[in-house]
Amino acid sequence: MEIPKTLQAAIQFFSNEQVCIDAVAMMRWPDGAECPDCRGEQKKNPYYLKTQKRWKCRYCRRQFSVKVGSIFEDSPITLQKWLPALWMVCNCKNGVSSHELHRALGVTQKTAWFMLHRLRLALRNKSLFKMGQGGGPVEVDETFVGGRVGNMHKSRRVEYQRLRSEIRNVDASGKYPGKTAVMGLLDRDLRQVRAKVVPNVRRDTLQGEVLREVKYGSKVYTDEAPAYDLLHNRFVHDMVNHVEEYVKGQVHTNGIENFWSLLKRTLKGTYVAVEPFHLDRYVDEQVFRFNNRATKDNPLNDSDRFVCALAQVAGKRLTYKELTGKAGETTPF
Ligand SMILES: [Zn+2]
Repeated sequence: MEIPKTLQAAIQFFSNEQVCIDAVAMMRWPDGAECPDCRGEQKKNPYYLKTQKRWKCRYCRRQFSVKVGSIFEDSPITLQKWLPALWMVCNCKNGVSSHELHRALGVTQKTAWFMLHRLRLALRNKSLFKMGQGGGPVEVDETFVGGRVGNMHKSRRVEYQRLRSEIRNVDASGKYPGKTAVMGLLDRDLRQVRAKVVPNVRRDTLQGEVLREVKYGSKVYTDEAPAYDLLHNRFVHDMVNHVEEYVKGQVHTNGIENFWSLLKRTLKGTYVAVEPFHLDRYVDEQVFRFNNRATKDNPLNDSDRFVCALAQVAGKRLTYKELTGKAGETTPF
């Protein structure tokens, strides 16, 4: 199957339902469709019911569609709309708002909002290995996302700035009123980022993340925040003092800071009002685009990114209830 190269070509290509089914099936089941209810050999070789566009299992006799067990499950939205939407999310540098998607696809804005959240879930990647394996340094940093200082009432702004300096200097409660903390790590060898929302920026929280994500003994670069002051016990830790200098030879955090500026541009420009509850998904989306961006050594294009994303749609589900916080998530990571 020749995957299209541009959004326009993708919309045209995926205007045929059977083409969409074939594309999703090929990515999900490269060795042929499998029954979601059966195990082992029994799940193999279901037959395709052409008129119903569904498979039927030879063993349990149940029917299933290509959407089963994926982010598309139970969705009345056709794949002819889902696939161009996926294309847009993984390729539009600054993200896609629900208003844009609503206009582009002719679905309601509420539907578009829900679709985007499911698509972000597809973009989320499980971390399978520790960073720093290649021997190169890992940059670690945290940032705050949320209401802008400029729009704040003066008294709140003063309180804010006080807290900000405290957070950078003292191991206090580690919270920041009205803002959500996001922590990020960048493996400089692999040029890959991991980032997630953290409950606070206390030492135990941030160092716990570094321990979880980075190989013991790796080089770790941070700024001089005291939250990182014990890392030298497990890592080759070096810091850069941002007040005096931004770069100390190889020791800097410019890579992860570049990621923060991309994330903030997306959040401010496209997703004007993001609730803290949903922030993790926007972070996942930005991480996907960053980790699959074109570089000199790895010239990925829009088509490649779309294929990567499509390969990740299975094994993930997100219901409207889960999305609006009324029930726990079912996805295992
Ligand atoms: Zn079966």
